[in-house]
Amino acid sequence: VLILGIESSCDETAASVVKNGRTVLSNVISSQIELHKLYGGVVPEIASRKHIEKINQVITEALEEANVTLDDLDAIAVTYGPGLVGALLVGVAEAKAISYAKNLPLVGVHHIEGHISANYIEHPDLEPPFACLVVSGGHTHLVVVKDYGKYEILGRTRDDAAGEAFDKVARAIGLGYPGGPKIDKLAKEGNPLAISFPKAKVADAPYDFSFSGLKSAVLNYLNGCKMKNQPIVEADVAASFQKAVVDVLVEHSMWAIDEYGFDKFAIAGGVASNSALRMAMEEACRKKDIKFYHPSPIFCTDNAAMIGVAGYYEYLAGTRSGLDLNAVPNLKLGER
Ligand code: ATP
Ligand code: MG
Ligand code: FE
Repeated sequence: VLILGIESSCDETAASVVKNGRTVLSNVISSQIELHKLYGGVVPEIASRKHIEKINQVITEALEEANVTLDDLDAIAVTYGPGLVGALLVGVAEAKAISYAKNLPLVGVHHIEGHISANYIEHPDLEPPFACLVVSGGHTHLVVVKDYGKYEILGRTRDDAAGEAFDKVARAIGLGYPGGPKIDKLAKEGNPLAISFPKAKVADAPYDFSFSGLKSAVLNYLNGCKMKNQPIVEADVAASFQKAVVDVLVEHSMWAIDEYGFDKFAIAGGVASNSALRMAMEEACRKKDIKFYHPSPIFCTDNAAMIGVAGYYEYLAGTRSGLDLNAVPNLKLGER
């Protein structure tokens, strides 16, 4: 089964051809990062326009790289939510046009289901059930993957997402956008024990997260230093902040593992490429004798291969979208 995956929910225009849900024949990504850098974050209107400019070219490249034509495909999978409405609409309209022109089944895919499914690409042995921590620019979810396409959310962030916290703290210490990879790099030169930042817990909800208090604590620390004319060691701030985030993510994940007894644990989303998070999770899972999975960095941040993979399992389950498929900016995981 050959699926063309299309992704345009934020600032990456991407297309990919995936064979039988596990083999990526091509994975083309056109990133708008350089464009949005100027503004310190993604500007929705600019993102939509750029998607329109790039999408045909990206799809053509994905088909060429995979050495297939539209006539070889079995279905089209496209992200229809969550994300920026104008950005999503570009991919959805394109997918509907191809589906109509070539009489191909259309499968709408949830972006976060895509992030989770990225783990299937490089791990042929990974099959549900397992638990997955989704840490991305807009989401922090602790999820039970009960079966392909069947999810139960154990916990979520009450305020900022993990990636959002990375981006905001990076901006505060002058690292620019996107901040996650820059903090990851700078933290390697800093002391994670230099500053003690709070690890927020949510009362009566052990699997929920809260990162806005941590972000404020970093901002207060930076302001305090300026007022007292104390030097700021950015690498120490980055390392200490990163440790506070990673500690909480690992701790809550391990509580879930203890309570529910999973034997497989995966991470997904842009922050899943964070080196400190990977090391800490690897170590924590090893201690509990649990198999730990994570995608390569290229499959952690937004891509269309993950949409092709998730689309394949939805396709097998009989999920079909009509030509009335619309973008749903706040689509919930597990809902259609
Ligand atoms: P969502 O998937 O929730 O809709 P998104 O698609 O914008 O949001 P992703 O593309 O999954 O998010 O991930 C981008 C986020 O990952 C950004 O916040 C970025 O800073 C963060 N990120 C990327 N690499 C790293 C890293 N090495 N360390 C920490 N954070 C990282
Ligand atoms: Mg992005
Ligand atoms: Fe994403």
